[in-house]
Amino acid sequence: MERNKEFEIKKRLKLFLKEDNLVEEYIKRYGYVIDIKKINEIRNNKNAIGNSRSIINSIPINHPDNPLYEIELKCPVCHSTLKGYNLKSKSLIVKYNWFMVPFYEKNKNYIYIDYLIYNVSVCPKCLFASPDERDFEKYNKYANSYSKSAIPFNMLLKLKDTQPEREQIIEYLEDTEKVFSYPRDIKAGILSYKLAINRADYEIEFNLPNAHFKKGGYLLRLATLMEKNNEKEEDIKNCYQEALDAFKEAFKLSNFSSKEAEFYNLYLIVVLSIYLDDLKSAQEYLHFFDKAKEEIDKEEDIKVYEKWYKRAKEAFDYRDVKDIFNKPR
Ligand SMILES: [Zn+2]
Repeated sequence: MERNKEFEIKKRLKLFLKEDNLVEEYIKRYGYVIDIKKINEIRNNKNAIGNSRSIINSIPINHPDNPLYEIELKCPVCHSTLKGYNLKSKSLIVKYNWFMVPFYEKNKNYIYIDYLIYNVSVCPKCLFASPDERDFEKYNKYANSYSKSAIPFNMLLKLKDTQPEREQIIEYLEDTEKVFSYPRDIKAGILSYKLAINRADYEIEFNLPNAHFKKGGYLLRLATLMEKNNEKEEDIKNCYQEALDAFKEAFKLSNFSSKEAEFYNLYLIVVLSIYLDDLKSAQEYLHFFDKAKEEIDKEEDIKVYEKWYKRAKEAFDYRDVKDIFNKPR
């Protein structure tokens, strides 16, 4: 969306809501769309919103209205225990933008929390980070033991040696225990993705399947959080560019764990190329996408193919309004 239009909507919201922090909260929850019902909802919750930080601070983690619940994990690198945060089923409404990044909205009795900020679990001691529980050692109460991490042992040794790198990423921030526990702020969410990207870089070094694809996905989520945090446009654009490079690298290597991942990856290359004004690249990869159909031998893969191919074509048709791509659909 054009900056001007965003500005106009902000101005109108200010008329309705009077206070800047309420306008910010509205945009954070619902985006740049005027909806009187939602405006009233924000008005009615005015006291709870106060300043937007108090929303996340106002309710304990184990409160029934909290959409999150805590899980216990063990770090596979340094064996410290840490907390991860999962989403209760149907506790938030989820929509996706064209890059398939989730956007959460409040649902019924639950309070609103931006789960994107909590998705990555971080070890507060050695800063190992991943959104995938299987990368950690997970406690199983029936077996009264911890499951093994999905990460190979030699890579875990490498991650032990490279802790100083991760300390540098978070700029030697102290009190990591508090920063990465509930409640987290958006800056902690941003750091959590930067740490996960660092882990993905080692997965690339160790030739693990899907590693570039994972890295690209983290970069897209990072770009979204940077947008929400009003960071510099140039930095955000670089982040999208890095994501595109990662997906192209994944295409080149082609060590996907499934056909679905391969087509999903191609779709993301097309969408990102359009978004970054490289129509030549978009057309080139649409052509690869056409070709990919010839190599499908299983019936069920054709369905998956059609789904992603249709979406890629649709994105190309929307190339003149590509500014909607980073907004939830
Ligand atoms: Zn650790």
